[in-house]
Amino acid sequence: MQKPSALATRVAVYPGSFDPVHNGHIDIIERGCPIFDEVVVAVLNNTSKNPLFSTEERVEILQEVLADQPHCRVESFSGLLVDFMSEIGARTIVRGLRAVSDFEAEFQMALMNRRLDPRVETVFLTPKEEYSYLSSRLTKEVFLLGGDLEGLVPKEVLERMRERVKRPQE
Ligand code: ADP
Repeated sequence: MQKPSALATRVAVYPGSFDPVHNGHIDIIERGCPIFDEVVVAVLNNTSKNPLFSTEERVEILQEVLADQPHCRVESFSGLLVDFMSEIGARTIVRGLRAVSDFEAEFQMALMNRRLDPRVETVFLTPKEEYSYLSSRLTKEVFLLGGDLEGLVPKEVLERMRERVKRPQE
């Protein structure tokens, strides 16, 4: 039997800011892993967004959280996603669709990426209903106001947020 070439390996990229990673993201990664040979979680190095965690910290947190996922690795990237994909030999983008409100922006991005590189396809996965309202922005807001994030973000994230963020009651 012929061995599959590197390009026959189905490598998918799951890009995002992950500031911080929450259980909705993890749910999408866990759904993607059995579909592909490898899922590369790609942390966007977005210098302009004034993030809570630096790119290096976000990569480190994701590596800790995903340590038990053998077909998954974490990288950071800057610039065009399609260029990063070309570098690592990936052809598929995984994105999460929470609700209709995500659709418009995701649709535009999928078509733009395909225009930039016609070999690239985007697939959409939907999370468990209980995570469909979760966003990184909301987790940060709730945490800052003293809300409980137990069950919504991994414990590694919660620990780091407690170290990083001063809350009103603390
Ligand atoms: P952005 O890169 O726009 O800041 P995120 O880093 O928050 O977005 O998210 C990266 C990807 O994860 C996107 O495809 C987004 O739709 C998806 N995602 C975000 N939150 C959830 C969730 N609660 N359930 C499923 N997918 C999600």
